[in-house]
Amino acid sequence: MAYLLSLSFFLLFLGLTQAHPLQLDEKDEMVFTEDPDDLVDITTRILETNNGTTETLMEGDVMVPRTRTAIRCLWSNECLWERKKSENLVTVPYTLSSDFDSHSQGKIKYAMNTFHTKTCVRFVQRSNQRDYLSIESRSGCSSWVGKTGGKQLVSLEKRGCVYHGTIQHELLHALGFYHEQNRSDRDKYIRINWEYVERGEEPNFDKEDTDNLDIPYDYSSVMHYNRWSFSTVYRKETITPIPDATVSIGQSLEMSAIDVQRVNKLYRC
Ligand SMILES: [Zn+2]
Repeated sequence: MAYLLSLSFFLLFLGLTQAHPLQLDEKDEMVFTEDPDDLVDITTRILETNNGTTETLMEGDVMVPRTRTAIRCLWSNECLWERKKSENLVTVPYTLSSDFDSHSQGKIKYAMNTFHTKTCVRFVQRSNQRDYLSIESRSGCSSWVGKTGGKQLVSLEKRGCVYHGTIQHELLHALGFYHEQNRSDRDKYIRINWEYVERGEEPNFDKEDTDNLDIPYDYSSVMHYNRWSFSTVYRKETITPIPDATVSIGQSLEMSAIDVQRVNKLYRC
């Protein structure tokens, strides 16, 4: 834990110029402010927050059971959110727990809004739709991958998950994306240093049977873990980029351009 905290501090400095978090002002209008808490990298925060979770999680923050790979649905497109042909929009109904204060609700809605401006995905407040995301402050940050049908939990624990990139990260899971380092073709781009992977955490580095959509591997994806994730030894990497080991990975504080491209391609926006 000590190394994770120092890593957070280090990454806080790295990210100082990058993020555009927001707060709600008294009129509930969205305004940009510098909120240092938004600047810690995604992996560090999610793994720290999930450390004490009682949920059964795989790959750090993905809920079990993994009965389906979201992007390759078992049947038709049932694991994807529906795209209305008439509007060319993908509607994702949601409910937001009243456990979140107005500031947190604003941040969650703001993160949703980034999908609205960059993709054809529209998160809409649920009326009576059968399938929807129930966004709650449970233990840890977690989500199912893809649409599961019915009420589907997305947990954003108030204490450690209500940050811009983290919210986007969990929403991307719900839309159907795994972590970037779990891509089926990842061995061409990263090396897993199994000798440093904490015992019992090996499943975090499993490869999934993903549809990579002919989109390049993205080291800067908000879905990519950092190079020290689940390491047993201080500063010993569990993930090394190849062939260039110096490439930055897992430092993304918000969706990358490729993350956006991926959403648009999967949902044929
Ligand atoms: Zn995740």
